[in-house]
Amino acid sequence: MKTTPTIEEVTALAKRRGFVYPSSEIYGGFVGIYDYGPYGAELANNIKSIWWKSMVQMEDNIVGLDSSIFTRPEVWVASGHVGGFSDPMAECKECNTRSRADHLIEEAGGFADEKMSPEEINKVFEEYKDKISCPNCGKKNFAKVKNFNLLAQSNLGNFSEDWTKEPTYLRGETCQGIYINYKNVLDTARVKVPFGIAQIGKAFRNEIAPRQYIFRKREFEQMEMQMFVEPDAEMTVYEEWRKKRMQYYLDLGIKKENLKWHEHENLVFYAKAAWDIEYKFPFGFKELEGVHARGDYDLTQHMKHSGAKLTYREEGGEEYTPHVVETSVGVDRTFLAVMTEFYDKDELGGEERTVMRFPYRLAPIKAAVFPLLKNKPELVKKAREIYDTLKMDIRSEFDDSGNIGKRYRRQDEIGTPYCITVDFDTLEDGKVTIRERDSGEQKRVAIEDIVKEVSA
Ligand code: ATP
Repeated sequence: MKTTPTIEEVTALAKRRGFVYPSSEIYGGFVGIYDYGPYGAELANNIKSIWWKSMVQMEDNIVGLDSSIFTRPEVWVASGHVGGFSDPMAECKECNTRSRADHLIEEAGGFADEKMSPEEINKVFEEYKDKISCPNCGKKNFAKVKNFNLLAQSNLGNFSEDWTKEPTYLRGETCQGIYINYKNVLDTARVKVPFGIAQIGKAFRNEIAPRQYIFRKREFEQMEMQMFVEPDAEMTVYEEWRKKRMQYYLDLGIKKENLKWHEHENLVFYAKAAWDIEYKFPFGFKELEGVHARGDYDLTQHMKHSGAKLTYREEGGEEYTPHVVETSVGVDRTFLAVMTEFYDKDELGGEERTVMRFPYRLAPIKAAVFPLLKNKPELVKKAREIYDTLKMDIRSEFDDSGNIGKRYRRQDEIGTPYCITVDFDTLEDGKVTIRERDSGEQKRVAIEDIVKEVSA
């Protein structure tokens, strides 16, 4: 039976096969930042387009948005990020490494989270002091826990020398771009409450301890959807979206036993409900997506700080501030979840292989075309011809390097569902051999039927 791969196995394959590289690697890497290589970029694009299709194409009352990374700094004051978006940081006095105090407390068996005040966290930290050691050097000598703001600052548009007094911020989450455009969308997109706005984009957080590979990055990408609803309908809509979002992961091919719901212990004061969908990553069940009922907090805050009127009135009806139901997931966490879920090892034709069993729509490359031998010009020519036609319809690849066994192994490791081989018989009978990734089964197919055969 398939078991969850180790994080080392996933990381090694992702590096070896061009899915994920550490950023600035030639300079020694850059903590919390990663780059997607050729197959990683394809996989991330597929993840984004599947999400976009499920939200914007399939839902009649959801529209898309692409708001900017930079906004007026007031946005982040209104959202509460400038004042309160901070993580408790414990600094080791021996090696100067910083760790999340709430994580250290949890690992020692206690409970703490980022919503507690520094005094509260320090009290719990003190209680568990004997059980907490530095993850880097193992010593138990920490400075007092301090709060550290997670917003990344910049001098964009500020030319003074002491710009740090009035910084602009790189967005810490994509949804603020949705709230500040809510009125624009309402006025221009022919939508009526209940309606949603969906967006995919980069977000930045100065995470104190980025870790677990691409699970916690400093630059990452979010896919968020905010549904604006009538106050009384909030919880009904919320329950609908909880069901839809879990079903989405099952439809993606993730096994039920690798997903579970987790209810937030400490709700922020304005929230009505907050549940996370957790996935069984190689390091255990952890948050993949948050599904939240946020009340009217967000629009109310922006009305207060901007002076704009963000209320809603149906024809002949009462005026109210819409409540928000949100679904929020990271591209990178989905990426790591599907790399984990579909990683497999088996034996084929007496040889052990690693195979990424991506469902067709996630696979970076759908079909690869090989000439059986690379030093036979007539085979190479025919294979090229077939590839040149195929690539018009299907994301495919041509490969004539190494022996055929090596080419299969490479395509298995990047999860290509079909390999198409051109041999000497092809020149006679106009047929190719198509090999299916999971079963290894091969069949002869006429050249004109290839597209049909290797389509979804
Ligand atoms: P966590 O508790 O793990 O820090 P969060 O509750 O702060 O996450 P949200 O602010 O709800 O996360 O963000 C929504 C989603 O964005 C998360 O479910 C996750 O998929 C993704 N996300 C958040 N922070 C990061 C990060 N540093 N790196 C990668 N993805 C992230």
